[in-house]
Amino acid sequence: MNNTQPKRYGLSKSRILLHRQCPKRLWLKIHRPEMEEVTDSNQTRFATGTYVGEIAQQLYPDGVLIDGDDLGQAVIDTQAILAGEKRPIFEATFQADGVLIRNDLLLPVKDGFRMVEVKSSTSVKDYHLTDAAIQSWIAEQANLPVTRVEIAHIDNSFVYPGGGDYQGLLHYADITEQISAMKAEVPDWIKAARETLSGDEPCIAPGIQCDTPFECSFFAYCSLSVESTDIYPPEVLPYGGTLAATLRAEGYTDLRDVPEERMETWKHQRVWRATKRGQAELNPEAGKLIAALPYPRYYIDFETINPAVPIWAGTRPYMQVPFQWSCHTETAKDVITHCAFLADGQSDPRRSFAKSLIDAVGTDGPIFVYNAPFERSRMQEIAEYYPDLASALQAAIDRIVDLLPIARENYYHPEMRGSWSIKSVLPTIAPDLAYDNLEVANGGMAQEAFAEIMQPETLPERRQQLHNALLLYCERDTLAMVRIAHYFEGGA
Ligand code: SF4
Repeated sequence: MNNTQPKRYGLSKSRILLHRQCPKRLWLKIHRPEMEEVTDSNQTRFATGTYVGEIAQQLYPDGVLIDGDDLGQAVIDTQAILAGEKRPIFEATFQADGVLIRNDLLLPVKDGFRMVEVKSSTSVKDYHLTDAAIQSWIAEQANLPVTRVEIAHIDNSFVYPGGGDYQGLLHYADITEQISAMKAEVPDWIKAARETLSGDEPCIAPGIQCDTPFECSFFAYCSLSVESTDIYPPEVLPYGGTLAATLRAEGYTDLRDVPEERMETWKHQRVWRATKRGQAELNPEAGKLIAALPYPRYYIDFETINPAVPIWAGTRPYMQVPFQWSCHTETAKDVITHCAFLADGQSDPRRSFAKSLIDAVGTDGPIFVYNAPFERSRMQEIAEYYPDLASALQAAIDRIVDLLPIARENYYHPEMRGSWSIKSVLPTIAPDLAYDNLEVANGGMAQEAFAEIMQPETLPERRQQLHNALLLYCERDTLAMVRIAHYFEGGA
């Protein structure tokens, strides 16, 4: 007789949430952890969440933190604190049915506790409700009197007054009613997660669940097993979601197999033609537009940082604060110079950013950008904050020429695969200007590099290395614009 009992896997809220996203994700996390690839965006999200949690703790100076990595001890410490005088508790830890949870914030009230989960988003999301249902169900099973369950999320109308005063940063949303029915499902979620872990690797193909609610860190592993035959899928059609879905339903997986008469707009027809022929299409109108513009011509690009918790007085959560610009100046055909600004990361960068930019772009000539709403909005925000700079900034805004709509209206190369971002267009026009040899190779990496420069513990050598990498990256962006404009002009 075989007395071997199936293993009863210990669970946590995070593991149950992984299972809710995709059973295979939890299975891989436990049985094939070596296949996980934690991306920069995963790490940034975790770091942001942790920092917002720390700020929430600062708002309750009489609170007590249950710290340490020994979760068994944390459960004991939590009970000891609960037995004493009632006070706010951070990271209170509970266990029931073999599931461990840590709660961000417990706030004492007359008959029990408000249970608060702190989130770095700016509203309550569906997955927060699942998260809170698990938390409160476990805490109640562990005999905690929970009178109310709340999500404390970032209030994006908060304006930081400075001096470390973050009162008002968080908005507390009462979700007690919303999750009351959901809590009854938690025992089934726990059972289902354990069954998955006790079985073989689930056979689940990549799909919509891989990005919902978060990008799955096993995507590279799962997509290896999927043979891709869609070299130019119907989804490359711009704003063509409905048509692409119809074509998919009809069995089309490659745009080149779709009959031309199915293309309903001239943009779709152009994408179809270029893809079918395997070569770029450039409308000479793009070049005529550019050729009509005078010299000097300026090509500018900004880098910004948007911290969830504002750093500088007068800024809001997630506000895009510019810290760097690059400018190529073309005084006559092919006579080009370059200048740049990069903040030192020690103080509010906005004023020195704007003053140096105003000097760099002079008073005449077109200012090329790629996706004007972004640069225009940053300049307008600074103009509102520094009225003495407003008229010069507005004059510069009035000279902006956006290369993105010119590209969108007039150019397509099959390798752009439905994207007109500068990183998609550039390799088709100037393949020698790749980004993949750069230490900082995209906007997200630029934000992270600047955040590291701002850290007081960053060593001077490292700071210099990041500084150089940022300068190189932003310069590459504006040089890319020069090359794109020249290419279009050459086709006039
Ligand atoms: S990549 Fe997709 S299918 Fe694979 S484990 Fe993650 S969510 Fe599941």
